[in-house]
Amino acid sequence: MNNISNFPEQLLTWYSEHKRTLPWRGETDPYKIWISEVILQQTRVQQGWDYYLKFIAEFPDIVSLASAPNQDVMRVWQGLGYYSRARNLQTAAQQIVNQYQGKFPEKFEDIISLKGIGPYTAAAIASIAFEKPYFAADGNVYRVISRLYGILEDINLPKTKNQIQEIGNQMIHQVSPSEFTQALMEFGAIHCTPKSPICLECPFDKNCYALNHNMVDLLPVKVNKVKVKNRYFHYFIFAQNDQLLIEQRTQQDIWKNLYQFPMIETYEPDIDLTLHDLDLYQIKSINQITELKRYKHKLTHQQLDIRFYKVDAIKPVIQSHQMMVSKEELSFLGFPIVIANFIKEFINP
Ligand code: SF4
Repeated sequence: MNNISNFPEQLLTWYSEHKRTLPWRGETDPYKIWISEVILQQTRVQQGWDYYLKFIAEFPDIVSLASAPNQDVMRVWQGLGYYSRARNLQTAAQQIVNQYQGKFPEKFEDIISLKGIGPYTAAAIASIAFEKPYFAADGNVYRVISRLYGILEDINLPKTKNQIQEIGNQMIHQVSPSEFTQALMEFGAIHCTPKSPICLECPFDKNCYALNHNMVDLLPVKVNKVKVKNRYFHYFIFAQNDQLLIEQRTQQDIWKNLYQFPMIETYEPDIDLTLHDLDLYQIKSINQITELKRYKHKLTHQQLDIRFYKVDAIKPVIQSHQMMVSKEELSFLGFPIVIANFIKEFINP
């Protein structure tokens, strides 16, 4: 792991020169720090600015928030979204009145026990308001530390978050926790941003792992865990007088507008043909159905299990989205690659 000596001190120097003027900047009242943190959880600074001022004007302290009619709190919050935040704020204010005589608790364990306050907000309040060495790590902070220290593991893994927490825990003891927390948040918000970090004017350019390894765009590592859906497609090859029955896919789904053979999708790998009996396609008097080929086909988020069957039956009624085409005509139509491969192997070798 990369080692950066004096990072906390250098960060505070950067902060003293670059910090923005914000309504809650320099605030020491834990109540107001709490309100600003909750507003900023899902809201941009620009939008949160006016709401913060309005909220503090209407409810200047814990007691006024705790005793206000709930609809007044919701009215002030109106437009900010995520209304559970406003409900939780009032419930937590009532908790503080009832359990702590209206005085904001100082202990981390007490802060985190309040309604709606998680580890990040509790650490932010404990460090900013009470100078306690709790490291508050949000998305901005994970990004900055990953880039500086060269954290190459998936940022969403608990192990990686713990590693960053460890780094932060060591650093926050070296300087003022309040200043350090705010400086790191500010550095992530305006300097080491996700898309346009200002690496050319960065005080850490000599030591930054990401910059020195040309990995700024790649860190933090985020592995998207997308669930893969299993789907089972059964295609029926019906031929008559050297003509094959095909249809166009028109529904909002994979392969829209491409062609295919008449198809039934099932929830399980196997199909009970006595149940379906291909009635769907008006294919009647089936003498025999023979499985010709089975493919596994992987798409980004879907695993397809595709089977092709030869159907020996009497002439079908052609439906509006279907047509009979010759073998030669198949090559002029667009099919999904897996069907095109089947055609190449079994119909037009
Ligand atoms: S050099 Fe670039 S990536 Fe590294 S900390 Fe500075 S701004 Fe962030």
